[in-house]
Amino acid sequence: MRMPTRRLAAVAATAAAVPAFVALSAAPALAAPAFQMPFPCGQTWSGQTRSDHSPANAVDFNRDGDDGDAVTAAASGTVARVENLGTESYGLWIEIDHGGGWRTRYAHLSGEFVSVGQGVAAGQQIGTLGTSGKSSGPHLHFEERSNGSAVKISFNGAQVLYWGSGNYTSGNGCAGAPGTVHTGGISLTVRTGPHTTDGSLGTVPNGGTVFITCYKRGSSVAGTYGTSDIWDKVGSGYVADSYLYTGSDQPVAPAC
Ligand SMILES: [Zn+2]
Repeated sequence: MRMPTRRLAAVAATAAAVPAFVALSAAPALAAPAFQMPFPCGQTWSGQTRSDHSPANAVDFNRDGDDGDAVTAAASGTVARVENLGTESYGLWIEIDHGGGWRTRYAHLSGEFVSVGQGVAAGQQIGTLGTSGKSSGPHLHFEERSNGSAVKISFNGAQVLYWGSGNYTSGNGCAGAPGTVHTGGISLTVRTGPHTTDGSLGTVPNGGTVFITCYKRGSSVAGTYGTSDIWDKVGSGYVADSYLYTGSDQPVAPAC
């Protein structure tokens, strides 16, 4: 197995990109959101910290064949920045605002699937891992930030190793992203696959809550929230996304 290689830090432009952020209030920091790893449920990644990283508290993630892998939101929030610095610094990078002064950053991406102002659910794919910006190879540079400063990173409440490399398994989205059924009255059919012709496994009542673990594309269905070919996996079957309120017109969970 190929060992993860050391990656260049690439944050020189950060200070210029975020000028003069000064906290004027002495209010204590709010408790951190329940951050999860920025990868789909169950995936194991090597995470590296090092004291000469910039910022020092960031983590670089690698695994075999990681180029193009899904990068997911570490917690629910609102997309604050979707940037492209070309071959400089972070390259393609995204920042999500989680409230209470907490933000996360995802850098060196090859693709960005969200836009500024968009709400995202924990575990929702926001882009793809790459090697854009000042990077020596595919990896994800990840930061957890409090009131403008990168802080030591925790997942599921457990701090990662400072300093060194460890293997970490993602619990992100394992419980599923919530959605609420809005059909206007009738129950929503849970099917064996993502097509209207697939067999029925049962129904979810109007107003019921489901937990979406992943999605597939299939039959286009005109529902309460427009027309969509997204089908969400709930339990062992699939329901048409166009009848679910999830807070987003995009998938809120990784592809199945
Ligand atoms: Zn880095």
